[in-house]
Amino acid sequence: MQVYFVGAGPGDPDLLTVKARRLLENCQLCIYAGSLVSPQIISLIDPQADKYDSAEMSLDRIVEIIGQAHEKDIDVIRLHTGDPSIYGAISEQMNRLDDMQIAYEIVPGVSSFQAAAAVLKAELTCPEVSQTVILTRTSGRTPMPLHQDIETLAKSMSTLCLFLSVHKIGEVAKQIEEYYGADCPVAVVYHASWHDQIVIKGTIKDIEGKIGGSGITKTAMVIVGHALARPDTESKLYDSRFTHGYRKGSEE
Ligand code: SAH
Repeated sequence: MQVYFVGAGPGDPDLLTVKARRLLENCQLCIYAGSLVSPQIISLIDPQADKYDSAEMSLDRIVEIIGQAHEKDIDVIRLHTGDPSIYGAISEQMNRLDDMQIAYEIVPGVSSFQAAAAVLKAELTCPEVSQTVILTRTSGRTPMPLHQDIETLAKSMSTLCLFLSVHKIGEVAKQIEEYYGADCPVAVVYHASWHDQIVIKGTIKDIEGKIGGSGITKTAMVIVGHALARPDTESKLYDSRFTHGYRKGSEE
């Protein structure tokens, strides 16, 4: 018996990995994040399987169900939205499984920041503009650790991908304006890759008003940075004047 922490991707079933799809179609027991995993993906789970929505469950209850499956030697799929390594709360589950000596494996998924970048047709790392992507959030019930407050991160002028933060977009805009400038592009993608996906583009100056009018308060990715403007800079990789050992596969 083992537990599979599976990344469900952003929503579109075609963005599942082959491994995730195979596991879902053959599973007997699945605990899924019901508020975030798309119904289309849930519908791939074998109808005979036992399904539990983790939105209504405590960590203790999740671990209890896994423990019972262990006794019956039934594999468990623990389905997380996007990629499980990002705001998936999997550490606490893995620690409990270690204590119980239950084996587990992680199956990565397409994260929502990647899905949002694809929707926006954006390169998050444009030469000379941003060579760094920061995945972060604003504080909620979980406070931000020291030195990871948004102003400190904004000083680098990296491309910012903000999870769990769209409801605080006005506050964020005020905090970062000094560093990025009021005209810096901001894009919000609600339900990236779902049928009801919404894209709103603006700037640090006007994004709060645009989002306020949209009614979007959750399940949206906020991307901030001058890379979104698709600046006219070209990489060294394909520069004919720049010689390097090989062209295929690597930027090294
Ligand atoms: N592990 C997930 C993130 C979970 S935290 C991942 O890798 O994407 C939940 C947050 O992720 C949401 O508040 C939202 O900011 C973002 N998110 C998840 N799915 C999304 C989607 N389909 N479109 C846009 N944002 C999404």
